[in-house]
Amino acid sequence: MSALRLYNTRTRRKEIFVPGDPGRITMYVCGPTVYSRAHIGNARPAVVFDVLARLLRHLYGADALVYARNITDIDDKIMAAAVAEGVSTDEIAARFERHYVEDMGALGVAPPDLAPHATHHVPGMIALIGALIDRGVAYVADGHVLFSVAADPDYGSLSGRDRAAMLAGARVEVATYKRDGADFVLWKPSVAGQPRWESPWGFGRPGWHIECSAMIRELLGETVDIHGGGQDLIFPHHENEAAQSRCASGGAELARVWMHNGFLSMGADKMSKSLGNVVSVGELLEQGWDGEVLRLALLSAHYRQPLEWSQELLEQSKSRIDRWYRQLSSYADVALDEARSSLSGIFSNGESPAGYCNDLDLPWVVATVDAALSYWKSREDCDAKRSDLSMAASALRLMGLLTKTAERWFEPVLRPKPATFGLQGSPGELISEMEMRLHTLRDTRNAARAARDFATADRIRAELEAEGILLEDGPTGTTWRRA
Ligand code: AMP
Ligand code: ZN
Repeated sequence: MSALRLYNTRTRRKEIFVPGDPGRITMYVCGPTVYSRAHIGNARPAVVFDVLARLLRHLYGADALVYARNITDIDDKIMAAAVAEGVSTDEIAARFERHYVEDMGALGVAPPDLAPHATHHVPGMIALIGALIDRGVAYVADGHVLFSVAADPDYGSLSGRDRAAMLAGARVEVATYKRDGADFVLWKPSVAGQPRWESPWGFGRPGWHIECSAMIRELLGETVDIHGGGQDLIFPHHENEAAQSRCASGGAELARVWMHNGFLSMGADKMSKSLGNVVSVGELLEQGWDGEVLRLALLSAHYRQPLEWSQELLEQSKSRIDRWYRQLSSYADVALDEARSSLSGIFSNGESPAGYCNDLDLPWVVATVDAALSYWKSREDCDAKRSDLSMAASALRLMGLLTKTAERWFEPVLRPKPATFGLQGSPGELISEMEMRLHTLRDTRNAARAARDFATADRIRAELEAEGILLEDGPTGTTWRRA
């Protein structure tokens, strides 16, 4: 098995991934705060870590990963949305969680193994806050509990910031009850009518950062293998999570590897609700963009790089997906040698730039699949081309692409394990199955057209169209593509 290398934000370099227990790999990604529809930037971490989850299951086994992505269902923004609409915070949170699950589903994001809700874990948060007070790293002031940043000598080690920059970056309100401006809230009081829980410090609610530390501790253990989110979370959210977990556990780090995706921008600025330059996943789907096209667009830059969202990006992604479907459908013709050499690095991690295992170098994988598929021209061969094709198809399925159609076309053959991701089943055989069916239909239709039996020809075209497949008659024969 090739060594998986991942970039660790904490050490600022790529490292060979060594899980604590290869039989139970743990990954926690900070999920959405559910108070409005997710914009396409919010979908980037969901899609990126979904691909990583698929890769880990492929490398270590389908059951070897426990992937948790939380739902933040208590937050001031949720409370403000509830007040604005005159409904409960639960209603707002439940509505936007539903939208989130639907939208991510449309992008082919598999549900995580665990989707813990903050409001279901408040006792664990209270216990953790209590432990921090007992250890002398948190203090009570004015109905609040605060974490004392000065008490953690390693504070700042994740983001690599000095204290002055941290203060500026946190944009913390310097409240009078804080001993130090950089101290952050673990617990805050709620007034009547606000969501609140009973605690040793009065009725109140947890701060955001303690949420993830408590849920990780409760569900996954003291240290997770991978902790992820967008780059904006490095500071202060993850710095604070790391500090409080380290202090509560007597030094154990919260995560072995910290991973952060780059930001999506639209126009000159990062896409963000507060700037108003957002387009929601729901809007894009309503405009008729296929979820797979959006997914490929999100994966088209390396996950750590910024990505500019634009109409051209969407159009390029659509034509690339259409081309892949077309090329895979006529795979019978493979120029073996070129294809083999260019595909060989897709999963491996050799000397030269490679694919998945090189910190998820998906742009490289995409370019390689592109090149390989365009080599496969008119040449009759069989076994070797199958293995190449199967590699390309696997690479795409691991990326979560071409899966819907793959399932539709390949269902009878795929049956054994439709719910597992990765490489079960043999894509080579599956494609052959699909190809046989298309060839038969194509031949029947061509014969019908030659016999001027246009009714039959049209019926076959309509039948395929109903399945989302368009036939295209060209000078070199009939090809197909997805509608
Ligand atoms: P939120 O619901 O605001 O907590 O964000 C959910 C996730 O989306 C977090 O991991 C953020 O870092 C990430 N995120 C928010 N905006 C963007 C963006 N424009 N590009 C990429 N990731 C983003
Ligand atoms: Zn978090």
